[in-house]
Amino acid sequence: MKNLIELALEDLSSSDYFLFQTHCGICTVAYGNRTVRFSKAGEEPATEQKKLLFDALYDQEYRTARQSAVRSAAEHLNLCPVCRRLACNRCFLICEDLDLCVECAERLGVKGDLVISDSV
Ligand SMILES: [Zn+2]
Ligand SMILES: [Zn+2]
Repeated sequence: MKNLIELALEDLSSSDYFLFQTHCGICTVAYGNRTVRFSKAGEEPATEQKKLLFDALYDQEYRTARQSAVRSAAEHLNLCPVCRRLACNRCFLICEDLDLCVECAERLGVKGDLVISDSV
């Protein structure tokens, strides 16, 4: 599941901040999109050695931010076994036999309960 989200993750990071997002394939709401500032954002490395350190630090913080984006998106998204799209908890139904996204459930005439419904 996390691998799928990693594949679908869009990278909107810049040299100053890290930002990733994944979209629900049904309602297109974005998840996992929390901007994390690079700890050395705005600082110019004074020397070549400092630049190497900054680059390594950037890599490390990039990976951490990416992992946390995947983790937070995973709490909101489910894989629909029929259309293979990522569906958020508001677009995904817990059904008796097979849990499905709302669109597939409707197409296949299956009833179920939303993972999260706004009325609760
Ligand atoms: Zn959705
Ligand atoms: Zn589906």
